[in-house]
Amino acid sequence: QLSMRLTRVASHVPTGATVADIGSDHAYLPCYLVSQGLAERAVAGEVVKGPFESAKKQVKQEQLEDKIEVRLASGLEAIHPEDGITAITIAGMGGPLIVSILDHGLEKLAGVSRLILQPNVHAKAIREWAQTHQWAIVEEEIIKENNKIYEILVLERSSQPVVFTPAQLLMGPVLMKQQTEAFREKWQRESAQWTNIIASIESTEQTLEIVDKKNELVQKIKLVEEVLNGEN
Ligand code: SAM
Repeated sequence: QLSMRLTRVASHVPTGATVADIGSDHAYLPCYLVSQGLAERAVAGEVVKGPFESAKKQVKQEQLEDKIEVRLASGLEAIHPEDGITAITIAGMGGPLIVSILDHGLEKLAGVSRLILQPNVHAKAIREWAQTHQWAIVEEEIIKENNKIYEILVLERSSQPVVFTPAQLLMGPVLMKQQTEAFREKWQRESAQWTNIIASIESTEQTLEIVDKKNELVQKIKLVEEVLNGEN
């Protein structure tokens, strides 16, 4: 059975899409999408041999070889123009890695209308990328599974400039409005961690670098508190 995390990622794929799942590992997500009739066809991209073999095995086991192509390739190199990919999913990696995958294959996004991204950490990098490349964040979701908190960002091309405030970049424009329990828990956890870091560097030599770091954390705590208190 598919994890709640990947089930939620799948829920944002438009029905009938042709999907590329990059960093697919066991190809559970494309197998689910195609076998449930949610996606028409799919490409599963993997850069590492082991997971690539697992993906091939899974697709074969589910008898989906006519609809899912598994490719050994880095990032968006797995996509060819003739695939007609309309949606891309990238899940279970850090935000900066997801951004580097997008940046290295910008030309592959030509026919793609939706990106469904699930960064494990540092979603901010993706929001910065969206702003730079004029993709709007049309949906966001935050979920808790096995005591881990995950964010899902859904991007679509925007005809207007995309501009986020510092709070929106850090915490998510949609998530900030919803303020779900998982959201509040995530930011309370993060804020507590920053407070601990500040306390631990308090006793070290106060170099310029350390002072800068401390100020940055103090600012972030303030930003988070304002959002959680409904002041931002
Ligand atoms: N997407 C699956 C999920 O969410 O459960 C698997 C996540 S797994 C933690 C990350 C996968 O991404 C690994 O199998 C890794 O080999 C793959 N990966 C990392 N960098 C990649 C890249 N540049 N191109 C393709 N796959 C990559």
